[in-house]
Amino acid sequence: MPNSKTLFVASFLALAIAASASAQMPPQQPDSKAFKIGSLDLVSLHDAQFVLPNDGKVFGVGHSPEEIGEVLKAAGAPTDAVTLSVDALLVKAPKRVILIDTGVGGALQQSLAQAGTKPEEVTDILITHSHPDHMGGLVKDGKLAFPKATIRMSSAEWAFARKNAQLANIVKVIDGNVKTFKPGATVVPQITSVSLKGHTPGHVGYEIVSGKGKLLDIGDTVHSSIISLVKPEWLVGFDNDEKGGEKNRIDTLKKLAKDNELVFTPHFPFPGVGRIAADGDHFSWEPSVPAAK
Ligand SMILES: [Zn+2]
Repeated sequence: MPNSKTLFVASFLALAIAASASAQMPPQQPDSKAFKIGSLDLVSLHDAQFVLPNDGKVFGVGHSPEEIGEVLKAAGAPTDAVTLSVDALLVKAPKRVILIDTGVGGALQQSLAQAGTKPEEVTDILITHSHPDHMGGLVKDGKLAFPKATIRMSSAEWAFARKNAQLANIVKVIDGNVKTFKPGATVVPQITSVSLKGHTPGHVGYEIVSGKGKLLDIGDTVHSSIISLVKPEWLVGFDNDEKGGEKNRIDTLKKLAKDNELVFTPHFPFPGVGRIAADGDHFSWEPSVPAAK
């Protein structure tokens, strides 16, 4: 049923944009969690909480809400809804302040203040992909929310964003400040982009390296810390390319479990830092936040 799916995703995106552009979204609680990767200071920043009904339209497309409910129940979660956190990642490097994704326009600015950073101190914004819960925070009151930042995303993703009528207001404001790259490029010192195509055509992750420390922000490779790991093969309505999303999810999860690499994922429970473990034919989440000092 591609039509109803497309409509649903479109209406969700419209809702998210409306929420970011006005006060319609209920107040969101700020939160921040600092940790270190090598000598770099990182902070997970909380922006918002999304509660999606378990109606088989986003998670487990083609599966019944009862079947999806069983997966949620087995993990001890409520069966009628799926809650996603919306978070972003701050990297304080010696000469730059880098923000990876910007949330939907919830409490991110307050979370950033908690982390001791002013919006005008942000030098670079790295976008994983052009959905409103990652780009919505770029614009505030019709202006650049981070006035001095260069906004970086893959060239395929910027082309995709420019074609999306629902992003027109954001694209117009950020247009002169965007710099694109080819996936695989080192975007700023110590941060390299990694192609994780599938969720969107130019979706990338960002690998942060300092000394022996390493962390990969995997963007929307996964969404629910339960369903995306227990049933990675289930199609996700948020994926612009559902089959491509499935392939990227399974390939990336296998690799992460094998390498035991530390990851950040914007939609897992805050602060979204931990490791993926292989668990039979599926996966599990092991939250693990390095120390702040
Ligand atoms: Zn997202």
